[in-house]
Amino acid sequence: MKVLENLAALRAWRASQGDVGFVPTMGALHEGHLTLVERAREQAGQAVLVSIFVNPTQFGPSEDLASYPRTLERDLELCREAGCDAVYAPTTEDMYPSGATTFVEVGAVAEPLCGRFRPGHFRGVATVVAKLFLRAQPQRAYFGEKDYQQLQVIRTMARDLDFPVAVVGVPTVREADGLAMSSRNQRLSPDDRVKAARIYAALQAGPSPQAAREVLLEAAIEPQYLELVDPVTLQPRPYPLKGPGVLAVAAFVGGVRLIDNLSFEGA
Ligand code: AMP
Repeated sequence: MKVLENLAALRAWRASQGDVGFVPTMGALHEGHLTLVERAREQAGQAVLVSIFVNPTQFGPSEDLASYPRTLERDLELCREAGCDAVYAPTTEDMYPSGATTFVEVGAVAEPLCGRFRPGHFRGVATVVAKLFLRAQPQRAYFGEKDYQQLQVIRTMARDLDFPVAVVGVPTVREADGLAMSSRNQRLSPDDRVKAARIYAALQAGPSPQAAREVLLEAAIEPQYLELVDPVTLQPRPYPLKGPGVLAVAAFVGGVRLIDNLSFEGA
């Protein structure tokens, strides 16, 4: 497995490959990330590239950029074991040489849900993913449904800007008690880790947002948002649900911001 530390090394590796399947991550890898790698590996004839980069432009000034877990040596070992062909792990200077002033704004799909509470977050995500797509030139890129709005933002960007990349969504990987796997879970205290599982229990009480809210409140979890939305536009959908809908939630548990979602099919 090649470890690529800068753009020149990535370009040289890319030029020596045929099709590439790409898995962008912020590291602190877990079974969720490795499932994206597995999906990429299933596609015959493509090399698998993982990127590991904690992207500063997607964190707000009062968010957890500094405390975001960083476990690069272990991540590289996991990528090796998972059969990745290469890992691109650039520095911030490599990704953002000084003076960059261009950003990607995706528009309406980035505005509700997390977009409302994390101004600039999806602008940072779309910008870094656009840069990574242009740098790595993958045929396919794999994203988790756990970050449902992010997946829709990337799909929209790829369509609108004509990226020749197939965006593949991968179902959420969960712990045994239902908690969606997340790099941030390792920052939960043992008590909060137990409490956090109630987020998935609440979603399972859906699609009624009220029924889901009651499960959260019984666990003393006050959601930042809990909304039933259209799976493509992410605009609010009424309950009772007609057709498809996604119940999406964000909540702080012990100071750690967790998100999750579940898809439903109404009558
Ligand atoms: P992150 O490192 O958290 O930015 O995530 C990198 C990629 O892994 C994103 O496409 C996430 O949606 C995906 N991912 C993270 N957690 C999970 C999970 N529990 N199940 C499936 N995909 C995940």
